Amino acid sequence: MPQFGLRQRTLVRVSSILFFVAGLSTALVLGDASQLPTAQAQAAYTSSASSTSIWGSASFPVENFQTYTSPFGYRSSPYGGSSEEFHSGLDMAAPQGSYIRNWWTGQVVEVSDDSNCGTSVVVQSGGWEHIYCHMMGHVEVAGGQRYLVDREGGIQIQEGQGLPTGARIGRVGMTGRTTGPHLHWGLRYNSEWIDPAVVLRAMYSAQQVSQR
Ligand SMILES: [Zn+2]
Repeated sequence: MPQFGLRQRTLVRVSSILFFVAGLSTALVLGDASQLPTAQAQAAYTSSASSTSIWGSASFPVENFQTYTSPFGYRSSPYGGSSEEFHSGLDMAAPQGSYIRNWWTGQVVEVSDDSNCGTSVVVQSGGWEHIYCHMMGHVEVAGGQRYLVDREGGIQIQEGQGLPTGARIGRVGMTGRTTGPHLHWGLRYNSEWIDPAVVLRAMYSAQQVSQR
C-alpha cells in the first residue's frame, strides 16, 4: 500500500538522492539493481555519457503534461489547517483522461482503489518502486486475480504482470484525495521516498547527451 500522505521522520538530502540515482545507473548497466551505490559509481555517473544515457531510455510518466502543481517534500496541508504534511511524490497536471505511461520496465506489485491515492498502480523495477495515483477506473477481482480496469481507456492491468517502459497503464483521473485531475507520481528506492524531480532532471540531461 503506498504510504501516500504520511509524514516521514527523515528526508533524504538532495546530495544523497543524486548518489542513489548515480548508483542505480551503474547497477542497471551491470544488471544488478540491488547493488549499493559506490563512490566509483558516482564518478562514473558524472564523467561517462554511457552511464548517464541509461536515463534517456526511461519514459516520462504522463501524456499531455501541463505543469507541476505540487512538489515533493513537506508542505502545509492543501486542505486547510496549520499542520504540515509530507507529500511523497510529484503532482503533474494533465487533462482528465490523458494516458499515463510506465516509467521503467518492471512488474506490477499492487493495484488498489481504496486509499487517498485513489485508483493506483505500483510497479517494481529492481530496487525501485514507482507509484501512480488518482487514475480513472477501479479494481476488479476475477478468478482470484486483481485487475485495474478502465474500459473506456482500453486499460486492463493485472497484479503480477510485467510491463515494458512507456506502456500505457491508465489515465489521469480524480479518484482518491485530489482537487483536480493530475498524476501523483511517487518513487521509492530501497523503500525510501525519492524526489521524482531529481530523476526527471537526470532523464532530461541524459536525453540531451544522447541527442548530441
Ligand atoms: Zn500528490
